[in-house]
Amino acid sequence: MLSHKAQVAVLGAGPAGAVTARQMGLAGLDVVLIDPFVPVTGHQIESFPASGAPLAEETGLLRFFCEASDGPAEAMHMQWRDSPETRRFEGKGPLLLHRESLHVALREEAGRHTTLLQARVQKIITSVHGARVRTSAGEVCADLVIDARGRQARKQHKTDLTALPFAAQGNLPAFSMWLEAMTQGWIWVSALPDGTLHGAVFQPPEVLAGMGAEERLTYLAARFSRSANLNQLHGIAAGKPMAAGFSAVDGPLVSARHLLVGDAALARDPIASHGLVHALRSGVQAAVAAKTILDPDLDTRAAHSFLRHKHRAAVAAARLATQGAYADQCRFKTKFWADRPLPEPPAALPRVTQGLVTLAAPLTRAAVLGHDRIHWAPAIKLLAVDDFLTEAGGLNALDVAAACRPAASLHEVANRLGRQHDRRLVFRVLERLTLGGAFAQAGLSV
Ligand SMILES: Cc1cc2nc3c(=O)[nH]c(=O)nc-3n(C[C@H](O)[C@H](O)[C@H](O)COP(=O)(O)OP(=O)(O)OC[C@H]3O[C@@H](n4cnc5c(N)ncnc54)[C@H](O)[C@@H]3O)c2cc1C
Repeated sequence: MLSHKAQVAVLGAGPAGAVTARQMGLAGLDVVLIDPFVPVTGHQIESFPASGAPLAEETGLLRFFCEASDGPAEAMHMQWRDSPETRRFEGKGPLLLHRESLHVALREEAGRHTTLLQARVQKIITSVHGARVRTSAGEVCADLVIDARGRQARKQHKTDLTALPFAAQGNLPAFSMWLEAMTQGWIWVSALPDGTLHGAVFQPPEVLAGMGAEERLTYLAARFSRSANLNQLHGIAAGKPMAAGFSAVDGPLVSARHLLVGDAALARDPIASHGLVHALRSGVQAAVAAKTILDPDLDTRAAHSFLRHKHRAAVAAARLATQGAYADQCRFKTKFWADRPLPEPPAALPRVTQGLVTLAAPLTRAAVLGHDRIHWAPAIKLLAVDDFLTEAGGLNALDVAAACRPAASLHEVANRLGRQHDRRLVFRVLERLTLGGAFAQAGLSV
């Protein structure tokens, strides 16, 4: 069996793995990207929200997303609340992407900057100095392993939601999306300009368990026949059920030399979309972390701290988005919907705006993403949210701490900062700090 050596082994060349590998390759690291490179199974079309475009553009990857798409969705038709609704996107709709085309394009782009190895990962053995990865094409030795095998990296993880992907024909307007709540789940459909429809029915796993191919077709046809909008679907082809529920690991570091990115770390429930944005963002972050970890002159702990913090923030945001989307549904009150947890109210820390204020917690430090490395920077803790302020538009945590000495009213703190910084920036930063619970009443300890 062949042996390979690289600084970093990336396992899995889905969007997260391909982006991570490409970014590290561009940064000069020696990377091997391992995947069996078989065509994608399951759903064939995905939506890429407009909020993901700036990062895709910044990394030079936007064109791959655009080229894998027929164009943005124009409207979303919903049977989600009591009466039917249509949300028109007015040019800001998500791109409807061909999943296979996107995976191939991102993988080819990664291949321009890394070594591709067509193989299936079988086992990972890590040590303090690196890892050995056993694959179907031999062993790979690397200083760092980044696992991007999607949900398959956590096979043992149970899901509370299964997707049954399908393709069909039907008379729905091109570039439209359809979302429909059912008593036991929901349906998502997207209509492409060539007249094909792609989507998935989302159900508790027990509903689809044990069904053969024929039964799945009969099941889908029966489902659609009960829908006012989808009852004319024909030529239905069903895929295989796949895990689709929200799931997340506690932390993205399996060990100091073994990181998780993309769905392997946090698989979002598709109701909240943004799985691709998370794959992109976590890949970019992991690539800079890898560069920091492998540079003996830089602080590995800063990279670890940064990754943990970003993971916690991503999990919290995903959980909130999922709960918000489910809480919005009010057509059905069955067990399926009752089991979807409601959003928790935000932490009730008092917002200090009156009297003399001071920082509620001592100045600390946080790991921040620089251009090509992660480093420590002075930080103000935002106690109401799991976050920090290090710097915004040239105004940094040290400036704010200095402006709070001696204790003063918020108005006076703003005046002190306003002598050296743009006043609109000062107000924005002070608002963020106030909402984040960064201030306490002077003389009181919290
Ligand atoms: C039904 C459904 C609908 C969705 N719709 C949307 C949507 O509309 N918009 C959106 O943004 N997100 C959506 N998502 C989520 C999105 O698909 C994922 O978040 C995204 O694909 C994650 O990318 P990834 O690279 O982390 O994992 P994956 O895309 O799962 O890629 C994993 C890679 O690892 C490889 N791999 C697996 N095992 C091995 C192994 N043993 N050895 C080597 N390689 C291996 C695979 O071949 C694959 O290339 C949806 C998910 C589901 C289930």
